[in-house]
Amino acid sequence: MTYQSINPNTGKLLKSYEHLTAAQLEKSLATAEATFQTWKRTSYAHRAEIINKAAALMHAQADDFAKLAALDMGKRIAEARGEVNFSADILAYYGKNGAAFLANTKLHPKHGEAHMESSPFGVIFCVEPWNFPYYQLARVAGPHLMAGNTVVVKHAGCVPQCAIAFEKLLLDAGAPVGAYTNLLISHQQSDQVIDDPRIKGVALTGSVAAGRSIAARAGQNLKKTSMELGGSDAFIVLDDADLDKAIPWAVWGRMYNAGQTCCAAKRFIAVEAIADKFLARFKTALEALVPGDPMDPKTTHGPLSTEDALLQLLKQVDAAVKGGAKLLMGGKRIDRPGSFMQTTILTDIAPNNPAFRDEFFGPVVSFYRVKDEAAAIALANDSDFGLGGSVWTQDEARGKRVASAVDTGMMFVNNIDWSDAELPFGGIKNSGYGRELGNMGIQEFVNKKLVRTGHFPAPV
Ligand code: NAP
Repeated sequence: MTYQSINPNTGKLLKSYEHLTAAQLEKSLATAEATFQTWKRTSYAHRAEIINKAAALMHAQADDFAKLAALDMGKRIAEARGEVNFSADILAYYGKNGAAFLANTKLHPKHGEAHMESSPFGVIFCVEPWNFPYYQLARVAGPHLMAGNTVVVKHAGCVPQCAIAFEKLLLDAGAPVGAYTNLLISHQQSDQVIDDPRIKGVALTGSVAAGRSIAARAGQNLKKTSMELGGSDAFIVLDDADLDKAIPWAVWGRMYNAGQTCCAAKRFIAVEAIADKFLARFKTALEALVPGDPMDPKTTHGPLSTEDALLQLLKQVDAAVKGGAKLLMGGKRIDRPGSFMQTTILTDIAPNNPAFRDEFFGPVVSFYRVKDEAAAIALANDSDFGLGGSVWTQDEARGKRVASAVDTGMMFVNNIDWSDAELPFGGIKNSGYGRELGNMGIQEFVNKKLVRTGHFPAPV
């Protein structure tokens, strides 16, 4: 399949692009490798200047970038603007802190002196999803370019305009050709890229299926990978939760980005004492959302990214109902042009229902009622995923205790303000491994080299 920008609000094809030819792909990889040889010798100050310039340009052109996200994948315009500005902040964060994160660290051996130093790996191949068409790119471009690596990026097939705009951004900011390269390539070509000896590391954000395929291929080549995969985060409502605060977050946590977020709240687990009240108020709040054109600021419920994404979600909801789940609301496509899904609540999901384990990537709530806190923790942990989750209680110490007991990479107490440039992002289990953002994110693809110095006698 070629790269296609299809407006999911209307179904209209806007632009399409062919895959790179073999010769074009070879030229891109050769340029990325040649540029690495000079880029790795540039100073942190020089790299920071370019990355900070890219951040400033992104802020200045936020409306243009945001519009492309709305057109390519249906993101509501205010959310798209927020994503663009946050992406620029991530670039600036690495521009500011990258050198300090990678500074030599002193060690204290018994004899002599020692330190660790950091050097870039080389060309890093990044495979990225459409749901945050800029944020995902900033999460890899900021740290890896600051570290002295160069990156070649395969973005998702449905967001080619965003992918091209981001590559242009870095060139406009003064990055040399080959520092950041967008590759319009097929999965088969992606395998060739992974096999290519010039590629020294592979970062994926995407589905579990993609993770299995890409990590296996990289593993055959003994190349380091980081995997940011799916999630099915629990939203645990304890008996003492403040519903006035929890309900707006529940709506946001499930509906932000039309529900297409890896760490979205997907399984709502409420303890018996508060379950009815929570569910009634959550349903009322969801009913108030207004579907419409993502470009219209009044719209509070946008389309899914593609028609295929909608069909897949409808299939999952049908399978859940066939498996015995009850539909409290929604479950169908919205009767209007474009790829819109009704806001949906599923209840009575038994452990043998496929919905119990699957990730719903859209506006579908899975609601569970449990006896008490211990049962809530047990259910939260009964998942193949381990990305994030949240706990709602007026007792913060209790919230922290529950957070510690849930097996995920990230937990939130009384908020789900997931992402910040400084906060490491990532999961465990089928949600993957490795971290992006923060200090940890820049360490993923650098060689941590030990250097020990000092004259001391050889042991006899
Ligand atoms: P996807 O199908 O895995 O696509 C993600 C990227 O991987 C796209 O660029 C896709 O390219 C590419 N891809 C898929 N299979 C591939 C293969 N065999 N070889 C090479 N490239 C391959 O994911 P999605 O379903 O569109 O995206 C949503 C998923 O990403 C969800 O599961 C979500 O939870 C996860 N996600 C995770 C995070 C995180 O940080 N943990 C963040 C955002 C999203 P094509 O488009 O060309 O197929």
